[in-house]
Parts: sequence; C-alpha cells; structure tokens
Amino acid sequence: VQPVLAVVGRPNVGKSTLVNRILGRREAVVQDVSGVTRDRVAYDALWNGRRFTLLDTGGWEPDAKGMQAAIAAQAETAMRTADVILLVVDGQVGATAVDEAVARTLRRSDRPVILAATKIDDSRGEGEVASLWRLGLGEPHPVSGLHGRGSGDLLDIVLDAM
Ligand code: GDP
Ligand code: MG
Repeated sequence: VQPVLAVVGRPNVGKSTLVNRILGRREAVVQDVSGVTRDRVAYDALWNGRRFTLLDTGGWEPDAKGMQAAIAAQAETAMRTADVILLVVDGQVGATAVDEAVARTLRRSDRPVILAATKIDDSRGEGEVASLWRLGLGEPHPVSGLHGRGSGDLLDIVLDAM
C-alpha cells in the first residue's frame, strides 16, 4: 500500500494545477470558475522513485456557507485518510478567514501538514509568503503550479514527511 498525499484548500487556489504539475500530466480538471470542481479524485504519482497516491480534494457549493462546511469536511477526510496533508493557499491573495479556519482544523492533525503558497510565479511574490507563518503550520513554501517554480523542492519536503 503506497502512502497517500491529500491536497486541500479553498476553491480556485490552484490545487488541481499543482496536482497536474506533480503528476507531470494534465489529468486534474483546472477550473477558471470556482465551485465547478469534481469531487475527491485519486491519482498515482511518482517522485524520486517513490510511488504515492495523490488525492485532489475539492468540489462543493459555490456559496460561502456551503464552502465553509465543505472545506471543514474536506480537512477532516484528509486527516482520516492521508499520510501527509498539503494545504494550498493562494500566495497572491494571502490567508483568508476560510484558510485560517481550515488551518485551525489541520493543526489538530496527527499527520504532517505542509503549507504551500501557490501562484508565486516569480521572485517578486516571495516576500508576501512570509505572512502565512501566522497560519501556525510552519514554513510556507512558495510554488507555481502553472510554471513549476519551486515544485521540486516542495515534493522533496513532502516525501521527507511521508
Ligand atoms: P483549484 O480550484 O484549487 O483546483 O484551482 P485550479 O487549479 O483549478 O486553478 C484555479 C485558477 O488559478 C485557474 O485559472 C488557474 O489557471 C489559476 N492558477 C493555478 N495555479 C496557478 C499558478 O501557479 N500561477 C498562476 N498565475 N495562476 C494559477
Ligand atoms: Mg480543483
């Protein structure tokens, strides 16, 4: 049985784009409109000769109330089923109230939680990422799912935690 990495986070932060980057192929559905995502999907992934299952979580009602409940459920599911959890936040937006709520839930996890700040496409955005330390999940790792910047370093960290 291979280890499971669950990718959690708000709609539209770039989870599926990052999943595709990790897979090296375009399987996860990337949406330009939030709230139209498929439900939890599992993929076989390989990095540095190690196989793992990648769960792209997501898919909920677009209204704020529904989202809050769904993201809580998503985090709980990840905590039950994953060996490592990757919380993705939008590095261009910073931490929102929903991000803070899910971070609070994930801080209870007995599994390692790694924090990725995505949409950091170049060095200009990196300064803003430091503010994400306040989520209480350790170092925020800047990455660009779109361009791949930082994704190798992030995967090394994820696999070290498995
Ligand atoms: P998800 O809902 O969290 O799975 O987010 P998606 O992967 O579907 O991406 C939502 C939107 O953000 C799409 O328009 C993506 O093209 C865009 N996006 C995702 N990752 C990046 C990134 O690294 N850089 C930039 N500039 N845009 C991104
Ligand atoms: Mg998605």
